[in-house]
Amino acid sequence: MLKIYNTMSQNIENFKPHNKNKVNMYVCGPTVYGDIHLGNARPVIFFDVVKRYLSFLGYDVRFVSNITDIDDKIIEKAKALKISEKELTDDYTKRFIDMTLSLGSYLPDELPKATEFVDYMIEYIDQLIKQGSAYQTSSGVYFRVDSVNDYGILSKQNMDELNEGVRVDLDQEKENPRDFSIWKNTTEGLNYDSPWGPGRPGWHTECAVMNHKIFSTEIDIHGGGSDLKFPHHENEIAQTMAHDHHHLAKYWMHVGRLNVDEVKMSKSIGNITLVKDLLEAYEPYAFRLLMINHHYRQPINYTHDLMIQFSKEYDKIKRTLKKAFLTLSLENIDIKDTDQPTIDAFIEIMNQDFNIPNVMTLIYEVLKQMNKEKDNHQLAKLYQSVKTILDILGIMPLYTLEDETLVMYRKWEEARHQKNFQLADQLRDQLSKRGWM
Ligand SMILES: [Zn+2]
Repeated sequence: MLKIYNTMSQNIENFKPHNKNKVNMYVCGPTVYGDIHLGNARPVIFFDVVKRYLSFLGYDVRFVSNITDIDDKIIEKAKALKISEKELTDDYTKRFIDMTLSLGSYLPDELPKATEFVDYMIEYIDQLIKQGSAYQTSSGVYFRVDSVNDYGILSKQNMDELNEGVRVDLDQEKENPRDFSIWKNTTEGLNYDSPWGPGRPGWHTECAVMNHKIFSTEIDIHGGGSDLKFPHHENEIAQTMAHDHHHLAKYWMHVGRLNVDEVKMSKSIGNITLVKDLLEAYEPYAFRLLMINHHYRQPINYTHDLMIQFSKEYDKIKRTLKKAFLTLSLENIDIKDTDQPTIDAFIEIMNQDFNIPNVMTLIYEVLKQMNKEKDNHQLAKLYQSVKTILDILGIMPLYTLEDETLVMYRKWEEARHQKNFQLADQLRDQLSKRGWM
């Protein structure tokens, strides 16, 4: 049975979705005002693997990840570039989608944009005010955290601790320093009419409302980066508890952060490495391998040496697979059945809270066996097993073996056999150029 570490309980739990075979999953997506950096790529890769694995186990997964296209940073950048917010966010949404695909991830089933849900957000905020969970001030609307029990339940902080960390607020009308903004009155940049005057919704409300509107029930998995636990996820939970009187999600999954060269990536220190730059220099699947070969809850200290190391490892994987594929093609062996013990071992490891680093250990063992395997039918089974697993991880190398290459390979073998070394060398060079030597 699949076991998942639930941030809410801080325990590994048996995974039992609300409806037997159906899984509703929501992952917080990007704020689209710039190209994604390496840290953003981690949830994009990991939750894609989660969806693929759940589908492999037979679940019908509905995977939703939002696009935050209303935000102060968007307004600032659009203003600086002298373009509309929509032009800016359409461009970066497209770039995000391209990057997701380049990283070997499928797109989520739905990518709702915050701007498409503003009417519902206004309705939702209005309801929160009417039921006493939110209140209006001259600057907008705040959520009243005292209106829900258990505020701090996810990040495991109590009210006293939470209040200690709060800086002196400029808004004297706030009842409690922890109350958070769900509507900001403003006429600057993109804004919408509301009963409280023109303005825009807060980020925490965007996700809570999209969840409510799309799923209308407690979802199974809510995911995101670990830096979103507080305040974002805590505030999503508080609004859902107040508005819908149920929890937002049964399982909370958080991926660890990615540090570049030991220092936490931050714009202020200017060491952000963008995915688009990385992908110009390295193979996307090698980067994906680096990402998933670290347990998802652990931080990654990204260095260029590490990237080089994983590029080499990925080359090794590719070489073994291509060699086996060539052997099987030359012998006309059907590749269709998997090796059941390998698949069983894979499932057992993945079921332990997606222990992908241990899956990779298994893969390396199977590749070693493949290099030694004399029985081509067993080789075919091992090949198909590795392919099945790497497809779920999203790192199966892409290659096609053309008939022409096969003919060339046979000629090379023949030339060697006949000790025609000059011809053999020529053919070898050509095969090497095609990547089959
Ligand atoms: Zn969110």
